Amino acid sequence: MIDKSTIKILILDDEPFMLKLLARMLANQGFIHVVCCDNGKDALAQLNVESTRPDLILLDLNMPGMDGIEFIRHLVECQFTGSLILVSGEDERMLKTTERLVQAHKITVLGYLQKPVKSDALLAMLAQWSPPSEAVPVKPRKTYSSDDIRSAIARCELVNYYQPKVSVATGAVIGVETLVRWQHATDGLIFPNQFITVAESSGLIDELTRLVLINAFNQAKLWQQSGLDFRVAVNVSMDNLASLDFQDLVVDLATQVGIPPHKIVLEVTESQLMRDMRVSLEILTRLRLKRFHLSIDDFGTGHSSLSQLRDIPFDELKIDQGFVHQAWKDDTLRVIYDASLALAKQLNMEAVAEGVEDRQDWDFLRQTGCDLAQGNFISKPLLALEFEDWIEYWQQRIKNDLLVDNRG
Ligand code: C2E
Ligand code: CA
Ligand code: CA
Repeated sequence: MIDKSTIKILILDDEPFMLKLLARMLANQGFIHVVCCDNGKDALAQLNVESTRPDLILLDLNMPGMDGIEFIRHLVECQFTGSLILVSGEDERMLKTTERLVQAHKITVLGYLQKPVKSDALLAMLAQWSPPSEAVPVKPRKTYSSDDIRSAIARCELVNYYQPKVSVATGAVIGVETLVRWQHATDGLIFPNQFITVAESSGLIDELTRLVLINAFNQAKLWQQSGLDFRVAVNVSMDNLASLDFQDLVVDLATQVGIPPHKIVLEVTESQLMRDMRVSLEILTRLRLKRFHLSIDDFGTGHSSLSQLRDIPFDELKIDQGFVHQAWKDDTLRVIYDASLALAKQLNMEAVAEGVEDRQDWDFLRQTGCDLAQGNFISKPLLALEFEDWIEYWQQRIKNDLLVDNRG
């Protein structure tokens, strides 16, 4: 709850009229400690003194001299722990972009207000204010060396988790994506963003991928034997596609274990600019000829782009989670989502929406006709042994929560 008698609010806007208007709105609502500044320098002076440091800043973006964006940079430098409300006459996209920028700096944004500001909108935003939580010391993320990763591989500490991909129309589990984790002896479960890049840069990614593939194919076989006919996807690093041995590795493993190629999906993201695309193109094309499925991962970000769609015969397009979650309420995301979905359909690829986090996301996929869904709303990544229980639970949920159209 907001305590109007103690919270310190600073309004920063170059227009005297706006300052007066906002100050009056706040005074009418019973806020006592409100300071107005018409330029960034004065506002920073307030911030630099403990006794005048605001808990909340109403920040205009467009100001002559120091503008709102520059002011935000100073907030980061002085480790501002309060909250921000952005105010501007700019269009919503500009405000949203700025909101993301502020969030990226880990500063709390209560939201943005478009000028002319309405007092009920301001009030609604103020109601969301909460005092900064007791500073939890953030443990710096540990970095691991190539030697650490080498010994993790040698000690068999890499474990595959599997996240379901389900049909949006029927709820049926169509496949799983393999996501590797490192079960560290003392540090607990380590996620791939803490070791894949090092593995790539230190030449360990081939060995890592080989292990992930072996475990995933063996698991696929076990599922197949128990009647679960999943497609199993594995993430492939572009560095794996630098040597023609990779295609033999995949083909040989699939043959040894006895998994038909069309049950295997290779998810590819281009994490770095490629030196020579010819080798990777050759590998991917030959694997595709042998009926392995190819998936373009994180579509719409980085180098997962249109030229790749032109060059590589993908079977599946994964719309990046950044364009899926909340696309139902964000016009910009929705346009990108729609365009990606349309591309997938027109190029005869299956579209998978990643990062489906809640019921609204799920319903949005149903309305827009996306093929497959993946995300925490359906299930977080699981250990293989958790799967049977989860499937039972999921089937119940489909029925109880009416997740799909029931047409007989
Ligand atoms: P990715 O391929 O895009 O995988 C999806 C990531 O999103 C996974 O993170 C997954 O746990 C997470 N995720 C799933 N559902 C949700 C959701 O609803 N919301 C949000 N916000 N996130 C969700 P994870 O497991 O940490 O993996 C991160 C990345 O590491 C993967 O991104 C993939 O690029 C890479 N990776 C994982 N396993 C391997 C591997 O075996 N080899 C290689 N080369 N890369 C891998
Ligand atoms: Ca992936
Ligand atoms: Ca992805």
